[in-house]
Amino acid sequence: MKEPPHKKTLWGLTAVPIVSALLFASAFFVATAWEAAVVERNQRAQLIDMTNSFVTAFSNAGAGGTVVPATFRRMGIDHYSERPRTDAYGVETSVTMPGTPGLEIHTSEPDGRLKRIIQRLAAKELTGPIVENRIENGNFIGRTISPSIATSASCVDCHNRLMAEEVYQIGDVMGAFIVESNMTASIWRNAGFSGLIFIVSLVGAGLLAQRERGRMQQIVNGLEAQVHLEQVKSEAEAQQRFLLSHDPLTGLPNRTMFHDRLDTELKLAPVSDVVVVVVDLDGFKTVNDTSGHSTGDALLCEVAQRLLSVITDDRGLVARLGGDEFAAVFRHAPDRPDADTIGHQIVTAMQDDFVFENNVIKPGCSVGIAIADHHAGVTATELLRGADAALYTAKTEGKNTYRIFDAAISALLGRRTEIAARLPRAVANDDIRAVFQPKMCIATGLPHGFEALARWRMDDEDVGPDEFIPIAEKTGVIRDLDLAVLQMAAEFAVATSAEFGQPVRISSNLSAQNFHTDGLAEDIMAIVKKAGLAPQHLTLEVTESVAVENWDVVEATLRTLRQHGVSAALDDFGTGYSSLSYLRRFEFEEIKIDRSFITNINDDDEIRFLFESITDMARGLGATVVVEGIETTAQAEIVALRGAQIGQGYLYSKPLEWDEARAFLKSSFDRVA
Ligand code: C2E
Ligand code: CA
Ligand code: CA
Repeated sequence: MKEPPHKKTLWGLTAVPIVSALLFASAFFVATAWEAAVVERNQRAQLIDMTNSFVTAFSNAGAGGTVVPATFRRMGIDHYSERPRTDAYGVETSVTMPGTPGLEIHTSEPDGRLKRIIQRLAAKELTGPIVENRIENGNFIGRTISPSIATSASCVDCHNRLMAEEVYQIGDVMGAFIVESNMTASIWRNAGFSGLIFIVSLVGAGLLAQRERGRMQQIVNGLEAQVHLEQVKSEAEAQQRFLLSHDPLTGLPNRTMFHDRLDTELKLAPVSDVVVVVVDLDGFKTVNDTSGHSTGDALLCEVAQRLLSVITDDRGLVARLGGDEFAAVFRHAPDRPDADTIGHQIVTAMQDDFVFENNVIKPGCSVGIAIADHHAGVTATELLRGADAALYTAKTEGKNTYRIFDAAISALLGRRTEIAARLPRAVANDDIRAVFQPKMCIATGLPHGFEALARWRMDDEDVGPDEFIPIAEKTGVIRDLDLAVLQMAAEFAVATSAEFGQPVRISSNLSAQNFHTDGLAEDIMAIVKKAGLAPQHLTLEVTESVAVENWDVVEATLRTLRQHGVSAALDDFGTGYSSLSYLRRFEFEEIKIDRSFITNINDDDEIRFLFESITDMARGLGATVVVEGIETTAQAEIVALRGAQIGQGYLYSKPLEWDEARAFLKSSFDRVA
């Protein structure tokens, strides 16, 4: 692993004081040693000068044949050579003049090296003094070897006489002074000083370095903290960016990113290759309610994976639009599966069981597809609306299937758009009217009451509630619509009961969407009061799937209404996977068995068994049992046998206009009377 740079710097801070102290001490040592050597050299030269002039003075004094006594002549030398002088710095200086006095040229210097130097001086191979600094036998020696030259005639005479040969002239080399200074002690002392300086500067530099290291460490810590902070910040930003464009549960792109991609794809040619797919799970609510939210979440993740395994185009994108709604966009290419194949593959991929915590789930989905080519407009919104319309068609065609947007769906979409546009005005203008279908008491064959059902004549065409109610729910007009029907229902019940002097019970339907808005119970009671209807004669029908989806809010509203005397009916029982514990807790006054259980009951034992079970269950919950969709007497007999109290269906009457319903009531009362 590579060391971070700041660690290296800190290491450097440890090495620097040692090296710098060493350099400083060494420099001090070299400088002082050099200085000492120079001083000593100068002193030796002075000494030689002094001795020389001393000798010369005495030899001149002895001119005229008098031999200068050797002891006298050499006083200057002997003065030093006998007792080496030690100066204040501990330097010992000695002066020697090798050989027999007066016979220097035949010197008997014991050091062969020095002897050779002297001989070379005598032979005039060397001129001037020789200065050297050497380590000898563990001592540091400074030495000057200087030729001693006879400079006066008396001097030369004397030498010639002593040598018994008259061969020398003035200027001939006669011998050499050797002046040695032993600087060992002073060098050691300097070394000691240098050591001291080394220690002092090491401590000083160490302290400085320590301070510097602390400062550096602080800077490094600060930088590290800043880097860490930046990292955390950029991670948080990345996370935030991810969440802005992705669904946190499945990790798929979200609606925003999907729209962006679709916009981009539609700007690239060829536009006709762009395919949009919307996928909606069938019965996802039921999974959530019966198996729990963690199972629901796991299922959504599984669905995401299955979609990704189908849309493998590099440029394709699978997104979660929200809830159980997914979407994909991809480009058609000759070597890739076409929209038809993809639709089929998605539906097939969802058929496999999904097992989670012992729950076995059959996902199942409906798929709507729109190809830019098939679609008149090419904006992302139009294309998505096309895919949505295809999805809607797939759902109404029995789910677990796919549809590709085409002319027929386009017409349907156009119609839905028109209905959505005209419905609010229809509600506001009282164009929505109520029809009344009798609910018959099976035991007596007399009307038990009526169910009010909404009707709309758009221009010259009747639009059925199965078509406009879902649109009203989607566009938010449903609340006004339901309350308008309720008002007519209340007015009908009040009018007929006044006319015939008998209580007329009335039922009205409430859509799921109403429970999402506040003040529903208050609005209902205001209508009931205004119409003068006894609340005991009103029953509100809520479809089972509605009750299951928003159980808490539905229960709270219905309980409030119950306190005022209004009854509640569970509509379409058997289709919504109600939890029995909910139903037991609330105890609906009425349970309406869905029409699908009575249809085809004659020729199928299994359906008959199912009908019997569901009726028994409704009775077991203590409610009045209503069976819807009775069309034949055979069906009526079965219903009677099973103990259901109320029947509703074409056998007794189709939904009737106000006057027809009034007439129906009149004839019934007339029959009794
Ligand atoms: P629903 O509440 O289950 O109403 C019963 C539906 O079954 C009615 O259809 C009725 O005409 C039909 N029906 C009754 N007896 C028979 C029979 O013997 N055979 C057959 N084939 N059908 C029978 P409709 O009026 O078309 O209403 C359909 C659905 O629209 C209703 O089902 C209800 O869910 C909804 N709806 C109708 N009016 C309103 C309303 O004012 N508000 C709300 N929220 N929903 C409404
Ligand atoms: Ca109903
Ligand atoms: Ca029903």
